[in-house]
Parts: sequence; C-alpha cells; structure tokens
Amino acid sequence: LQAGLYEAIRTLAGQGKLTESNMREGLRLVQQALLEADVSLPVVKAFIEKVSQEALGERVMRSLRPTQQLLTIVYEQLVALMGPVDHDLHLKPSGSTIMLCGLQGSGKTTTAAKLGRYLQQRGYKPMLVAADLQRPAAIEQLQILGEKIGAPVYVEKGATDPLVVCRNALRQMPALGANVAILDTAGRLHVDQALMNQLAAIDRLIQPDQVYLVVDAMTGQDAVNSARAFHEALTLNGVILTKLDGDARGGAALSVKYVTGVPIKFIGTGEGTDALEEFHPERIASRILGQGDLMTLIEQARQKIDQEEALRQQERLQKGEFTLEDFRRLLEQTTRLGPLNQVIQLVPGMSQLLQDMGDEVDTDRAFRRLCGIIDSMTPEERRKPEIIDLSRRRRIAAGAGVKPQEVAELVRLFEPISQIMREMASQGLRGRMQMMYQ
Ligand code: GDP
Ligand code: MG
Repeated sequence: LQAGLYEAIRTLAGQGKLTESNMREGLRLVQQALLEADVSLPVVKAFIEKVSQEALGERVMRSLRPTQQLLTIVYEQLVALMGPVDHDLHLKPSGSTIMLCGLQGSGKTTTAAKLGRYLQQRGYKPMLVAADLQRPAAIEQLQILGEKIGAPVYVEKGATDPLVVCRNALRQMPALGANVAILDTAGRLHVDQALMNQLAAIDRLIQPDQVYLVVDAMTGQDAVNSARAFHEALTLNGVILTKLDGDARGGAALSVKYVTGVPIKFIGTGEGTDALEEFHPERIASRILGQGDLMTLIEQARQKIDQEEALRQQERLQKGEFTLEDFRRLLEQTTRLGPLNQVIQLVPGMSQLLQDMGDEVDTDRAFRRLCGIIDSMTPEERRKPEIIDLSRRRRIAAGAGVKPQEVAELVRLFEPISQIMREMASQGLRGRMQMMYQ
C-alpha cells in the first residue's frame, strides 16, 4: 500500500484549493481505512460526506499536497466527532448510583469491578450490586471480583426481580459503608424487548446518576445496532468501550458516538481490574487511521505546517519585525525541539534570560513561566512592550501567577533579544536562523 500511496499523492501534487477531484483519492483512502477499522458502513458514508463538505474549497498550504491537507482535516474531524472528553462521573458526595448495561459478554461485570477500583483510587467507597439474575454464575463472578478489589458486593440469593435487588441495595448502602453503588445488570446475546423493558424500569424507578452502555469494541459493525437499541430504551450518560487491547481497531468508538451522541468515558484494555483507561479521542483517531498507514502522512503534514509557520515568521523577521508574540511562538517551537539545554544555546540571549528568571536548572518550568507572562498580556502589550507600566505589570503578573519583577525582567531582556533577532535576520545569517526555526 505504502508505495502506491505516495505515488498517488505525488501525482496529485496540485496547488490551490481542495476540489472534488483532488480530494477523490484521499477520500478513497480514508474510506478504506475506516472500513478496515470496523467503522460501520452508514457511519463511514456520513463521515466522508461531512468531511468532504467541510474540506471543499479549503486552501491547500504551500508545502502540502491536497491529499495531505485533506488528511489533516480528516484527523481533526475524527477527534472532534469522538470527543469532547468528559471524564467527570458527576457523582454526589452524599451517595450516587452508576448503572451498567449492555449485551451479554460485552464486559459489564468486569467493568463494574474496574470502575469500582477506579473510584477507590479517587477516594470513593464503591459497592457492587448483583442485579444480573439471569445467570447463576454472574453473582459468583461479581463476588470474586468484589473480593479482589476489596469492595462490598450486595447479593440477594434466590431473588427474581432485579429492580427489588437494586432498591434494597441502595437502602443498605450506608450500612455497607459505601457511597457509590455500581449496578451490574443482565444482558442478552441479542437485543430483546423483555430485557429493554426490565432495564428501562430500573432506570426509571431507581434513577441512577449515571447510566453507561458497555460495548465490546470487537463487535465492530454490530455495535451500532445494539447501541441504537439501548439508546432508545434508556437515558444513557456515557459509553465504555471494552476489549480495546488485542486487535480491535477502535472503529466502534466512532460508530457508537455517532449513534448515541453521548461521551465515551472509558476504554477497557484487558481482563484485569486495573485495565480501565480514560478515553482520549486522539489515540483512537490515530489507531483508526493507523490502519491504513495514513497517520504517517498526517504526522509529516503537521511538521510541514509547523515549518511553513516558521518560514512566515522568518519572513516577518527579515522585514525587521519581532514582537513578543513572535517570541512566544519561538519559545513554543523551541520547547518542541527536545533537549532544551542544547536548543537554548542557539537562541541568543536566552540563557541569560533564563538565568535571570532564576530557573537555570528547570528550563521547562522557566519556559512555561515566560509563556504564561506573555499570554497574560494584551495583544497591544505584546506588540509594544514599552507601554507596560507599573499597573499593567501588576495585572500581568497576577494573571501569570508570577512576581511583577519577573514581568519587568522579561520586558527588559526582550529588547536586546529582539535586537539580535532582527540583526541576524537582516544580515541574512540564514544557516543559524534555519537551525533555530526547524
Ligand atoms: P458481561 O456479560 O457483560 O458481564 O461480560 P463480562 O464482564 O463477564 O466479560 C466477558 C468476557 O470479556 C470475560 O472473559 C472478560 O474477562 C472479558 N473482558 C471484559 N473486558 C475486557 C477487556 O477490556 N479486554 C479483554 N481482553 N477482555 C475483557
Ligand atoms: Mg455479567
């Protein structure tokens, strides 16, 4: 695939704007990657449609080919659609209930224990509630897991109505020393009405604070249908995607988010009780696109975008312009370059400034402080630091959480730095500039 891909991109080396024809090849590659990643077909179609509308007419950056430009848009859209991130479980200190539902085998019982552990690590006292009365083994499985994480498990032997079990469990919560109840409900192999009615009744009468749908990422295409059914029957607050270890491609994340619209909270990455991670859309987006090796192209495109930005900055410098905004950007680029201590030697005046900031050792921290100071300035102050008087200095310092003297120091040292930058640019010391900016 790789060789063909680069070839295709080379032939598409057009300039100007994204058009239907110069996007065609890129969209085809994206469609292929999404399908390989197990995104459901209708969702793939809707996504391609949305992205092409979004991208049509967008200016192609000087150094990028249309396909690369398109791919950066695809990546951003994927991240946006699978987000936003909301890791808050919205629990009340006085006592909360989380209900887990999903098909049989999706990972509810395992996830109940993982979630319990996650909550314990954050100072909560969770208890697990055995509300799956379908299979006798389910209760025992939950008891074993509860023992493993050291959380109480509420069980009623011989009970037949999960609603009654949940209600009794919540009454017992204070006596059991718990403040979060995690309801492990029953699932079926396929969506059926009896199950949905039962879950809907629990949802309505118990009114859990959070209802999470547990989805097996390995089920790929089927995940959409079950997610839709659960979403219609219950008020879902979030999704937990399990079995993302192994070779699940993660396409289910996009499909399920698309269908339910509720945030993906966590991903399950193993059978152990600690294999639960907060969901990060960037990681899944990379994984989905990584399927078709498109990620490499996106990384390259990003580097080029950075370079183009640096070039533009360099052009402005050569015109004799260098403001605190440029300085801020320079600092940011410099931080991304790696070993700071080496990079700093390349920027004239920088090591002096850092020394004066009293942070010679922890350069990372000093950089952040400098950026923080510049961020707290108004655009005008960044362009004309000479207007920064005592009261402005105080305001900026308060905003950045530093001492007013540090603001003064930055302004004082910025003058010689900008002087050197402008001189270097005008003398055409390109080699050194290039080193600094790349
Ligand atoms: P339930 O029927 O929904 O309660 O599903 P279970 O919690 O019993 O899980 C079904 C199977 O999936 C069990 O063998 C679990 O160990 C396994 N499982 C659950 N979550 C994960 C996960 O994130 N990764 C892997 N590899 N296996 C998982
Ligand atoms: Mg179970």
